[in-house]
Amino acid sequence: FLSNKSAKIFVAGHRGLVGSAVHRKLLSLGFGNIVVRSHKELDLTRQADVEAFFALERPRYVVLAAAKVGGIHANSTYPADFIAVNLQIQTNIIDAAYRHGTEKLIFLGSSCIYPKFAPQPITEDSLLTSPLEPTNEWYAVAKIAGIKMCQAYRLQYGWDAISAMPTNLYGFHDNFHPENSHVLPGLLRRFHEAKVSGAKEVVVWGTGSPLREFLNVDDLADAVHVNVGSGKEVTIKELAELIKEVVGFEGGLVWDRTKPDGTPRKLMDSSKLADLGWSPKISLREGLEATYKWYLENVAA
Ligand code: GDP
Repeated sequence: FLSNKSAKIFVAGHRGLVGSAVHRKLLSLGFGNIVVRSHKELDLTRQADVEAFFALERPRYVVLAAAKVGGIHANSTYPADFIAVNLQIQTNIIDAAYRHGTEKLIFLGSSCIYPKFAPQPITEDSLLTSPLEPTNEWYAVAKIAGIKMCQAYRLQYGWDAISAMPTNLYGFHDNFHPENSHVLPGLLRRFHEAKVSGAKEVVVWGTGSPLREFLNVDDLADAVHVNVGSGKEVTIKELAELIKEVVGFEGGLVWDRTKPDGTPRKLMDSSKLADLGWSPKISLREGLEATYKWYLENVAA
């Protein structure tokens, strides 16, 4: 649909990490008919409101990037919110979009939908082959339901709904909450605050040995189809050292082993995308430097 710049596109979740990157990308490509609503203007968990919105706007394309997201700690602290809010948002939007004539919908999820011990790198067909990682199963179950709902509407109605499952993302408009964020923004903030306060050490959760793959969200916005990864993994220890360096914190690291490690490894098999000629452009260091700058200007300031 990239040729029709006047097509009406609804970006759900345009203030979040993924939605804001997609929004930026569409604007930079010259799309002039993008519809967005703030949380205040439209509560996506309310079915009647979502229904009325779609009846009024009838967007031709929908990017479903609205979700309740958080890191390993938030997921285990708010299990009810993670399953209920996500099921509500996605069910309301997918169904209303289908019934009000949306031609194509892209549903965004995450790599945590795959089994805890999925063979690495993770291919799309490992979905539902064995148990999930318990620290984020509430979110994962909701997202799996969303993928299956898109698949079911495709099967029953021939409707063009696809799902993209990006790896661990980071970038501008991320959530930098000290406990509830994901590891990268959480550590960026912690190292920054330690530098400012002149602390001797920074506490990092778990053992440092889990492997994660990080992708800058502006690279994601270039892609949007199936598994989306960077193909490069770092251990949490390597990530912490890199963040320490980018922030310029001079002290040491302490590992808090009472905090969970989560899944040991989750490298995405992004070969379907690579076959389409897509590859990420932003290195982890470059992305971290830009994200730290954004954090200083927008969150720490
Ligand atoms: P996950 O990728 O779904 O497990 O989510 P997270 O981004 O929350 O956690 C990734 C890894 O980073 C886990 O092994 C955590 O134990 C580790 N970690 C280390 N320090 C932190 C921190 O300050 N916040 C978070 N969220 N995770 C941390």
